[in-house]
Amino acid sequence: MIPFLDLKSQYQQIKSEIDAAVLGVLDSGAYVMGPQVEAFERRFAAWCGAPHCLAVNSGTSALHLALLAAGVGPGDEVVTVSMTFVATAAAIRYCGARPVFVDVDPVTWTMDPAHIAKAITPRTKAILPVHLHGLMADMDPIMEIARRHSLVVIEDAAQAHGAEYKGRRAGTIGDLGCFSFYPGKNLGAYGEGGAVTTARPDLAHKIALLRDWGQEQKYHHVLAGYNYRMDAIQGAILNVKMDHIDAWTRARRAIAGMYDKLLAPLGRPAPPEDRRHVYHVYAVRLAQRDAMLQAFRDEGVGAGVHYPVPVHLQEAYRDPDFPAGSLPRTERLAAEFLSLPVYPELQPEQLLGVARLLKKLTLAAAE
Ligand SMILES: *Cc1c(COP(=O)(O)O)cnc(C)c1O
Repeated sequence: MIPFLDLKSQYQQIKSEIDAAVLGVLDSGAYVMGPQVEAFERRFAAWCGAPHCLAVNSGTSALHLALLAAGVGPGDEVVTVSMTFVATAAAIRYCGARPVFVDVDPVTWTMDPAHIAKAITPRTKAILPVHLHGLMADMDPIMEIARRHSLVVIEDAAQAHGAEYKGRRAGTIGDLGCFSFYPGKNLGAYGEGGAVTTARPDLAHKIALLRDWGQEQKYHHVLAGYNYRMDAIQGAILNVKMDHIDAWTRARRAIAGMYDKLLAPLGRPAPPEDRRHVYHVYAVRLAQRDAMLQAFRDEGVGAGVHYPVPVHLQEAYRDPDFPAGSLPRTERLAAEFLSLPVYPELQPEQLLGVARLLKKLTLAAAE
């Protein structure tokens, strides 16, 4: 048995630190926001290289508030990708706006900047690239197009904690960056969590208000806000985990490097030299993906697909402008992606077992 993800083994390694932090919050009597959350915000902002960080209760809330702070409202359009977790498009819909999908680059699998200009209309308010699997989108041309059309750029960095593009970290190039601390993410709480990063004090102020009922002071509501605050326990847990995130990221990158070597014949494209991939997901492309996925399950080896149905083909997100066939690269990736276990606790013999199984299956398929 090789699990796809092993959250328990990570907890066992840091149990004493986590338990002390959680008990400290329980003893403090302050359970929502507070000093632990503020300490985490300062630390995460500094680690990203962002002037401001606003902690919230999920990555989806982070996206929702970033879009609202950017002024996205009913009737607006947001240019994004369909090869993402549904939350990216859901948050756009929460604002009454419409996701306008562009296809992805064939090497990085992230937003193809060459497709953005033709997706822009007078209703477009923002561009929302997704740093899929932990690899940042091609931010320079995205920023250039956005500036030319006076659009806000929001990075969906939910899978990209510590990823870099030309030496700059995810969440610090666009106007706003959105992170998730869902347990399975590279930096995970033990419950839900998220954050928005920004360099703009006006946007930071608006998000700080919106996450806490729009209160300027208690019971004085200047904006129609939300209850999107972070729990103190999650803040305390994330503070502990900040001590380990760099080592965990190195471990993910080392595992990915070993897969690259062992699976070289599969021809997985190398990330561009100007980017630091943090491998939230290590995906390969396989012609007979569904059969491979089943074979992995039969052998007790964890594998996943991120993601099998692109957003524009989901029943809830159908849009006559994006029928089947309208985003060919996205649709092909959805049919071919297979994600291998890549968490820091994966043991070398487990990694070898995964690579051996995949090689055996692909050789058999080729015969
Ligand atoms: C996980 C994820 C989200 C949503 O984050 P939650 O914390 O689960 O709400 C958004 N976008 C992407 C790309 C994600 O992977």
